[in-house]
Amino acid sequence: MKKLENLEQFRSWAKENAFVYASSEIYGGLSAIFDYGPMGILLKNNIQREWEKAMVQERSDVVLLDSAIFMHPKTWVASGHAAGFSDVLVEDKKTHKRYRADHLVEEFYEQKGEKVDMDKKTPEEIAQIIKDNGIKSPDGNDLTEPRNFNLMLKTNLGSTDAQFNDENVVYARAETCQGIYLQYKNIQETMRLKLPFGIAQVGKAFRNEIVARQFIFRTREFEQMEMQYFHKPEDTEKIFEEWKQARMDWHVNVLGINPENLRFKKHEKLVFYASAAYDIEYNFGTLGGFKELEGIHARSDYDLTQHTKFSGEKLDYFDQERNVRFIPHIVETSVGLNRSLMMVLEEAWTQETLREPQGDTPADTRIVLKIKKSLAPIKAAILPLSKKPELQAKAREVQDLLKFDMMTQYDETASIGKRYRRQDEIGTPFCITVDFDSLNDNAVTIRERDSMEQVRLPIAEVRNYILKNLK
Ligand code: ATP
Repeated sequence: MKKLENLEQFRSWAKENAFVYASSEIYGGLSAIFDYGPMGILLKNNIQREWEKAMVQERSDVVLLDSAIFMHPKTWVASGHAAGFSDVLVEDKKTHKRYRADHLVEEFYEQKGEKVDMDKKTPEEIAQIIKDNGIKSPDGNDLTEPRNFNLMLKTNLGSTDAQFNDENVVYARAETCQGIYLQYKNIQETMRLKLPFGIAQVGKAFRNEIVARQFIFRTREFEQMEMQYFHKPEDTEKIFEEWKQARMDWHVNVLGINPENLRFKKHEKLVFYASAAYDIEYNFGTLGGFKELEGIHARSDYDLTQHTKFSGEKLDYFDQERNVRFIPHIVETSVGLNRSLMMVLEEAWTQETLREPQGDTPADTRIVLKIKKSLAPIKAAILPLSKKPELQAKAREVQDLLKFDMMTQYDETASIGKRYRRQDEIGTPFCITVDFDSLNDNAVTIRERDSMEQVRLPIAEVRNYILKNLK
């Protein structure tokens, strides 16, 4: 059994199977921006739906929000992004390729066999390490002086004349949670919520990332699934532990990730307002090891206090039982939707040898996406054995029985063996073959993806069988 070996293989496989395409490919592509193809969007939607189900539908204390990408520019002053959301940038003097200085320093120490915690390094310290050690670019050339580079993307809103006036500057949001903070009061009041409660949101975020050669792991436009849990300060520790565990369990139980490929990483250096911060990391083989997937942070009352200060609007909570007013504290869970999708694909991608080579006959192999059935883009493929009109009509009849409950695909091209392989590769749990006997016995053959076992069932029972076995 083989797994994906590198990003190049991953990229071309994801393209060939309609999961992910480079954006604007016909124009040569746009760095670190990707489009999700017909299979990719179905998978992405399924992951998002599972997240909303676990975070909102199955709980009674979390509600959803869809806030706008553009917010009042003061939002980013209050949040600290306008002044401090930056990475340290260095440029190769010859090739003009740009790098994150902290990444080069980390690689430098790794090559020496030393571990260094970059969370603990200030931009000035990073610059000094580069100087002191004469660190060069990966191409062996000199680097420019390190400088801070703000990751926020700026644009202008408003009509014509004033368009380039500084007053009209707005930012494409760099994280979705700020929209939650700005609507905290409206949501609490209009939904009549009592602490503790959460607000969850899935949406696009934009960061002008410096290094952009990690496929969909780090892109300049991406989606976050964030939840802010508002609570009384004395409950932080308990609530933090509950969310930390709940989020790890979700990756294992709902996305089907092997727990050995996941781990917690504690942040040793916390921002001054935070009381705890952990990442959940996944062992991305194609990226060389464990990398951040999700952050779980105890953020105190910092966010609502900042927005109270900058807006003049009181973002507090009245505790009727105790007759006191205070600003709620927040525990946040923040996971990348695209990174989750990358993890799910990498985890599920498997190359199996079905038969070893014998004499002149080469080995028989298949690529199968062993994805959780609930996440599979297509749940059932309907395959008439030939293009005879009677079989086509029968196959369409079967599809009509299923299409209201699940995503199906009708395929009559190529040999049946090739069509099975195609469905295996995109993770379709069930292939339904309609053959000449089906015309007489009104039964079809259902093949299961992982075991490749086949059962013969009356057409009338197919829907229930598949619905039962998709769970
Ligand atoms: P990193 O250290 O990898 O840059 P971060 O700590 O800045 O990430 P957060 O701001 O905590 O990330 O964002 C929460 C989540 O959003 C991350 O765990 C990740 O899954 C996702 N995310 C952040 N930046 C990107 C990006 N550029 N592309 C894709 N997903 C991202």
